[in-house]
Amino acid sequence: MAALRVWSRCRRKAADSGLGGAGARGLTGKYEYDLLVIGGGSGGLACSKEAAQYDRKVAVLDYVEASPKGTRWGLGGTCVNVGCIPKKLMHQGALLGGAIKDAKKYGWNIPLPVQHDWDIMAKAVQNYVKSLNWGHLVQLQDKKVKYLNLKGIFVDEHTVQGESKKGKKTILTAENIVIATGGRPKYPLEIPGAELCISSDDLFWLQDSPGKTLVVGASYVALECAGFLTGVGLDTSIMVRSIPLRGFDQQMAHLVTDYMASYGTRIFRKCIPIKIEKLDSGKLQVIWRNLESNIEERESFDTVMWAVGRPPETKGLSLDKAGVQINPETGKVIVGASEETSASHIYAIGDIAEGRPELTPTAIKAGKLLARRLFGKSTELMDYDNVATTVFTPLEYGCVGLSEEEAIHRHGEENIEVYHAYYKPLEFAVAERDATQCYIKMVCLRKGDQRILGLHFIGPNAGEVIQGFALGIKCNATYSQLASTVGIHPTCAEDVNKLNITKRSGLDPTVTGC
Ligand code: FAD
Ligand code: NDP
Repeated sequence: MAALRVWSRCRRKAADSGLGGAGARGLTGKYEYDLLVIGGGSGGLACSKEAAQYDRKVAVLDYVEASPKGTRWGLGGTCVNVGCIPKKLMHQGALLGGAIKDAKKYGWNIPLPVQHDWDIMAKAVQNYVKSLNWGHLVQLQDKKVKYLNLKGIFVDEHTVQGESKKGKKTILTAENIVIATGGRPKYPLEIPGAELCISSDDLFWLQDSPGKTLVVGASYVALECAGFLTGVGLDTSIMVRSIPLRGFDQQMAHLVTDYMASYGTRIFRKCIPIKIEKLDSGKLQVIWRNLESNIEERESFDTVMWAVGRPPETKGLSLDKAGVQINPETGKVIVGASEETSASHIYAIGDIAEGRPELTPTAIKAGKLLARRLFGKSTELMDYDNVATTVFTPLEYGCVGLSEEEAIHRHGEENIEVYHAYYKPLEFAVAERDATQCYIKMVCLRKGDQRILGLHFIGPNAGEVIQGFALGIKCNATYSQLASTVGIHPTCAEDVNKLNITKRSGLDPTVTGC
């Protein structure tokens, strides 16, 4: 033990003096690093920092390929630069617009209509993101993780070639390798003119307002971006090919889009774009087909944004050279319960891994637990069940566990009890906001104490509400336990505790009174 401490002190000294990269070896002495992580996003950074705490020699490669429109960003991956963080900040910017309108009802003398300045919001958000990039660099340095701004490509199962922006190549060897390269937005190049459009990678880094915008797609990215664009006062439309929020409880998904529609987002349902053309005015003319009427329609927009999925970044990695198998349909890396791939000593975490939720907290936790299993004598596996999530649309939707459809599919309709309520947030009352879509649904087993299988909440601060209940559901909470918990008054969350009308009863689920 003492020898190990002396050894690791020496190694730390070597790293401090900058010798860590080339000469020094990892613990086995056979490879340069004990752990090499490809991808410095949510999962990769968490894994590499955790591993370094066990006195291992760790390096992380992160390289951002510019978007087709030329947008680039710094260290931290999707969430920090073009995902959760700028999205939530712009969502907050949009919510403030609503708060300004409400404020008048509370006596604030604000001359309406107020104007929103995109440039100011964008600059503030971008500066904050840059501060996070810097923070990640400092953290890696503090934890003695070697950061290499190189694009990684496998040479064999213990060797990766890193290539710099200028084309300089470096060979790196490691005992263990973690693939954490995430995904990037899809460009449907089969649609003529697709290259004229932007993706969410560009939206957050625009210097000027996108103006009148069409967002194509109907999942998380599409609805959230269209939501905040509408909220900051832009003429915004969404083009939905089939259903909104595939995979989510569809009753909830439709309430989310109904609210968006009533607050100004135009929704083209059952439509697909077939061509995009640049007009002399500089605007983009979109020609689309309505799948129900089979009629072609057209309209011009300042900006068209693709939000049609995020394929994994596996193509450029030469995974075959390392014997790492992917699912040819999705392109994602096939992994087992301990994140292992088909190649020994190679692991995959986060968005790149097949069948995992594409969420930052799961990538982070999976990365940390993997490092602990590799170097910290832990055997704890990542539990991907009952992961809570929130869609940050103008009226937020948070959920954990099964949708009503999935619960029926797994257990049969006769074995499911659904409690529900249309409630009115107090925040909406004086402001006279429409609460038609504020809805809570709890899906339970019907027998016995009625174990809760899923909880769905639409309303203000949905993420904050659902996070606490997620603990209960993880601990197999039952309807009786929930009903015996006293609520906090006056909150929206207390309406979850007060749920008492079942769908089966057919009674009116509208909450009345205090
Ligand atoms: P990433 O964070 O994508 O990191 C991968 C890194 O690897 C990137 O920096 C990439 O440039 C780099 N890389 C790729 N190839 C190579 C290579 N060959 N060599 C070196 N480096 C490489 N999740 C939430 O939980 N909450 C949210 O609110 C949320 N909002 C989102 C909003 C948007 C618009 C988007 C797009 C995503 C959002 N997500 C959200 C999802 C979340 O961002 C991802 O699930 C998460 O970032 C995945 O982490 P990761 O480590 O797998 O990959
Ligand atoms: P998804 O793969 O979830 O959805 C793609 C959407 O695009 C679907 O609505 C799909 O429609 C539609 N689509 C695909 N191709 C076309 C086409 N050619 N024309 C029209 N529509 C098309 O992708 P996202 O990019 O929205 O999200 C990726 C992941 O990122 C999510 O799964 C989520 O985990 C994560 N994320 C998390 C967030 C959060 O936590 N708040 C926020 C944003 C992203 P159809 O259903 O018909 O196939």
